[in-house]
Amino acid sequence: MHEFCYKNNIVCCEDVPLTEITREYPTPFYLYSYRTLIDHFRKIRDAFKEADPLICFSMKSNSNLNICKALIKEGAGLDIVSGGELYIALKAGCPPEKIVYASVGKTEREIERAIRKNILFFNVESTPELIMIDSVARRLRKRPKVALRLNPDVKADTHDYITTGTRGKKFGIDFKSAEDIFDNANKYSNVRLKGLHVHIGSQITDVEPFVAAISKVVDFVEKSSIEIEWLNIGGGFGIVYGEEKARTAAEFADAILPLVKHRPFKLIIEPGRFIAGNSGVLVCKVLYVKAGSAGGDFAIVDAGMNDFIRPSLYNAYHEILPVVKRKSNPRKYDVVGPICESGDYLALGREFPEVVADEYLAVMGTGAYGYVMSSNYNSRPRPAELMVMNGEVRQIRRAETYADLIRGEKILKEFR
Ligand code: PLP
Repeated sequence: MHEFCYKNNIVCCEDVPLTEITREYPTPFYLYSYRTLIDHFRKIRDAFKEADPLICFSMKSNSNLNICKALIKEGAGLDIVSGGELYIALKAGCPPEKIVYASVGKTEREIERAIRKNILFFNVESTPELIMIDSVARRLRKRPKVALRLNPDVKADTHDYITTGTRGKKFGIDFKSAEDIFDNANKYSNVRLKGLHVHIGSQITDVEPFVAAISKVVDFVEKSSIEIEWLNIGGGFGIVYGEEKARTAAEFADAILPLVKHRPFKLIIEPGRFIAGNSGVLVCKVLYVKAGSAGGDFAIVDAGMNDFIRPSLYNAYHEILPVVKRKSNPRKYDVVGPICESGDYLALGREFPEVVADEYLAVMGTGAYGYVMSSNYNSRPRPAELMVMNGEVRQIRRAETYADLIRGEKILKEFR
């Protein structure tokens, strides 16, 4: 459920018609519903409340300060994957003891900074990384907490690029190596080995892969009689973009809770998409309609793969709604952007009521892995981000300007 729907034939965000917003703000822009964001956070929190987990919002899905602040205010921690995310997390006011840090490639500097800031723990992805954290900790005379990220070799039915829990993927540590690490914990005396982590991928719409992966980890804990303080079961809860069968937070929780409740460890979950995905849309304008696409016509819009890359990168399906619903004959369109790549599209062969130039379209479900994956490709400034909160539209990030495109560049003296 989300708060973007037609009212009097106009897509509204909560109660604000998008036509009011397009009058004031140039397209393209991302638009979020505060109410939807909070509602989805609470749905997860309430569904898992029997295990009283720390919910670390996966800020890679949306790292806007206001989005993070809104969730932190609700009690969320943050799952980070870089020094940049640590910086933003702290700027957003996240208590360090609610920050967990994954990533297969943490640099020495990133590790040092996170140790100095006293984050809750690192999710360690390899033995060499553990050695690095241990050595930085020794130098700093600190004893940070770490959790080993296990690779349970469980396949999730999702796009290969966002599958992370199978053998051969770069993520996590196999059970045998993890056991060796626990057996030789005294070799890593500058860290406190306090937890386990598992995250098998993103946009997983079935409960079975979660159950399979978490069962393997819990069995591992029992068989090797290790003591852990934290079990972090990652994120990955899928949402409805198109035809997927919706799983509610309660359905995910009902399947997972029996495995993790009443255990001698605390639970962490790291959802990103489930909280942010359907709380945002990308609004763009049709520039031209051109005949001759393979599937019908081209609707050429002012948002491209630099603004929103999921369709180009993963062939992801996103529903697209004309902001004003008009009565016209349906036609098939390739909705394409202005970027000089044939892979620059938002939808292919999609049937809509006939669209015309200057008409606005809302690309649905773009609140997660939307703005954060945008770029300046083709020297296009990144779009603004807006949020409807308490019935008002607020800008939470301005659109970039042309000057932003060369910010940071230095002209060599030879060219001055
Ligand atoms: N945790 C880790 C370690 C991740 O890599 C990701 C994303 O891939 C997430 C959590 C969040 O995943 P999702 O947005 O699907 O919930």
